[in-house]
Amino acid sequence: TPGSPLLQLTDFSVSYGPVEAVHQISLTVNQGEIVTVIGPNGAGKSTLLNASMGMLAASGQLHLAGQPMPHPRVEDMVAHGVALVPEKRELFGEMSIEDNLLLGGFSRWRRGQRDQRQRMQEVFAIFPRLQERRSQLASTLSGGERQMLAIGRALMARPRLLMLDEPSLGLAPRIVREVLQVVWNLRRLGVSVLLVEQNARAALQVADRAYVLEMGEVVLTGPARELLHDRRIIDTYLGLG
Ligand code: ATP
Repeated sequence: TPGSPLLQLTDFSVSYGPVEAVHQISLTVNQGEIVTVIGPNGAGKSTLLNASMGMLAASGQLHLAGQPMPHPRVEDMVAHGVALVPEKRELFGEMSIEDNLLLGGFSRWRRGQRDQRQRMQEVFAIFPRLQERRSQLASTLSGGERQMLAIGRALMARPRLLMLDEPSLGLAPRIVREVLQVVWNLRRLGVSVLLVEQNARAALQVADRAYVLEMGEVVLTGPARELLHDRRIIDTYLGLG
């Protein structure tokens, strides 16, 4: 149901040995929502995302669509419809766009070839540029195209929650806008998004709600539009632009 909680973190903490990188965070992504986590370098954004995907051990609670996931593992999260696009867009460089996409849908192989092709058509509808270049090797794509391919590949698994780790990293401003426009368009597919970004302005422009993370803690949260006009956010994260 739209608006009901899809991902819920409660008192969520993550440590690397003796060092706590994420401290008692509570965060919700509702169905159909785009939620962003912004904050400076080292604030714990990637740690939060990786632990939410089950890649790092965490303390606290994680609920998915209301169901408690006591010790989530990556395979559980995938099976429950969660996908992560990591900061390093791990593509298969020596394979074509098309083959990279087909690999993304691999966990759905039971649904058959036809479903895969249909899903690929849906991905191409979102990223027409990938369709034009479908036979091109991933290693020869531009930074923006790679990011689109990484997102497209994650979409092949038909996730209900897509987690994106800094999709704007290393991209020129114009390409950042293009990629985030795509994130905006994911609403139409009914995919909910948890977007981690250092580019606060771009993230706040596409998100419904935002959490500001500093030194592992949520220091501010609210509707993205309000944060875009919040004095503290403007002074700290949005600069003079
Ligand atoms: P960035 O935008 O630079 O990636 P971030 O907000 O994503 O920053 P994290 O990468 O989550 O921050 O890092 C949070 C803290 O945890 C940092 O102090 C970092 O040095 C530390 N950290 C991250 N990964 C590890 C690790 N594998 N082992 C030990 N400490 C780590």
